Amino acid sequence: MPATPTRPRQRVVVVGGGPGGYEAALVAAQLGGDVTVVDSDGMGGSAVLTDCVPSKTLIATSEVMTQVDGGSELGVRYAGVASGEHVGVDLGVVNDRVKKLAHAQSADIMASLSAVGVTLVPGTGRLVEGAQGSHGSPDVEVTAPDGSTRVLEADAVLLAVGATPRRLESSMPDGERILDWRQLYDLEELPTRLVVVGSGVTGAEFASAYLALGSEVVLVSSRDRVLPGEDADAAEVLEEAFRRRGMEVVSRARAETVRRDGDGVVVTLADGRTVTGSHCLVAVGSIPSTAGLGLEEVGVETSPSGHIAVDRVSRTSVPGVYAAGDCTGVFALASVAAMQGRIAMRHLLGDAVRPLSLKTVSSNIFTSPEIATVGWTQAQIDSGEAQGVSVMLPLATNPRAKMQGVSEGFVKLFARTGSGTVIGGVVVGPRASELIFPVTLAVEHRLTVDDVARSFTVYPSLSGSIAEAARRLHPSPIG
Ligand SMILES: Cc1cc2nc3c(=O)[nH]c(=O)nc-3n(C[C@H](O)[C@H](O)[C@H](O)COP(=O)(O)OP(=O)(O)OC[C@H]3O[C@@H](n4cnc5c(N)ncnc54)[C@H](O)[C@@H]3O)c2cc1C
Repeated sequence: MPATPTRPRQRVVVVGGGPGGYEAALVAAQLGGDVTVVDSDGMGGSAVLTDCVPSKTLIATSEVMTQVDGGSELGVRYAGVASGEHVGVDLGVVNDRVKKLAHAQSADIMASLSAVGVTLVPGTGRLVEGAQGSHGSPDVEVTAPDGSTRVLEADAVLLAVGATPRRLESSMPDGERILDWRQLYDLEELPTRLVVVGSGVTGAEFASAYLALGSEVVLVSSRDRVLPGEDADAAEVLEEAFRRRGMEVVSRARAETVRRDGDGVVVTLADGRTVTGSHCLVAVGSIPSTAGLGLEEVGVETSPSGHIAVDRVSRTSVPGVYAAGDCTGVFALASVAAMQGRIAMRHLLGDAVRPLSLKTVSSNIFTSPEIATVGWTQAQIDSGEAQGVSVMLPLATNPRAKMQGVSEGFVKLFARTGSGTVIGGVVVGPRASELIFPVTLAVEHRLTVDDVARSFTVYPSLSGSIAEAARRLHPSPIG
């Protein structure tokens, strides 16, 4: 019998080892690709080394502090301490744990990539014209840490280079008192008074965490309320919780400059007021790491903000070049980056692929209380963009919440008018990140409120409120 001709393995070069890159590399290797990952800073990317994993590890400690704080209401007494307020953290130990955990996770990712035969190349990659006479799609030039360069020939390239903190001339971090979020983990002692500039997700998460850890916190927000763009009811609950716990929230205040003043910082607002603190965290967004990537040279289209334009299967404007993650500006989440990367490789290597749908992405803000969302939003329903009805149940009415001393938060469910199909939801409360999953399942699988209402929930449980919300929605969409 004649031998079956074997197709040559596709050479895939992934630039960037964050979730967009490493998850793609795992899939590409599984589908038979010859895969190389080039990364300048370490496997796992910013998600693992500086952003997502470190912040959530820090927040794990702050959650313990919040529980300790709430313990006295439940009758807990700490020996030798009149109330929870004297329990403190050793920030040096906390940050040491954060860094060790991040590096261990990076090593785990490196090991799992190596185990499936992915080649790891430390260095900085950029696109260059493909070699003469080859397929014509771009190759990748790598500059190694020692400055030497070499070209990796590729049949396809995935760009997953992520993003870095936005820096403003008027508030440049000095790494000691004026900090971006990546520099926080070098602190040995808790800031006595932390001014957080920026009330988006990152600013809100760190403000919440440091408040729980024991710092005085001032949150400077240029908008009417914290978390602009998120569910307004959720943001209101969070802002109230912040204020109740003693955070100073300065709203409608644009920070113009942040400067060092001896052992402290002075933040000057646009209206001339000043806010002083021992430290300042500047959290005013991110910019894509696309400069110097050779995009223009090979014709990859970008947006005015520098993000790489992609379609729903992660293709860029140049055949053979895909992009995933924060550098595309699609949805700055590790889960979305990973999904975009996997979709790209499935598309490239001929596996079954479903284009990215953002309507089923669940996301969470890890504040206290947490805010988790999925699907269509209240704003879209109110504006008529989505035809839906909603119901909101405060957790204070939930028996388990009462037992646990949980008084903040709610469950909100959105259903399509007429059909009663669940189209979205919001959960505000402890572990909202876990509680949102049944709502995500309902949205993904187009379950109706009756389907959800018919399912058993444990008594007593917070998830009981999700089923109760579904029951309450029964007459509206059907009737
Ligand atoms: C403080 C914070 C907390 C967050 N928490 C969460 C969370 O809880 N959940 C969640 O889902 N998301 C979270 N995110 C978002 C999440 O971190 C990002 O969406 C995710 O990191 C995007 O992954 P990525 O693969 O696109 O890029 P990254 O993780 O940024 O990885 C990109 C990698 O590419 C490298 N690189 C850049 N340029 C080059 C080059 N030219 N050559 C070689 N390598 C290069 C970078 O050094 C980096 O290692 C958080 C973000 C921040 C800032």
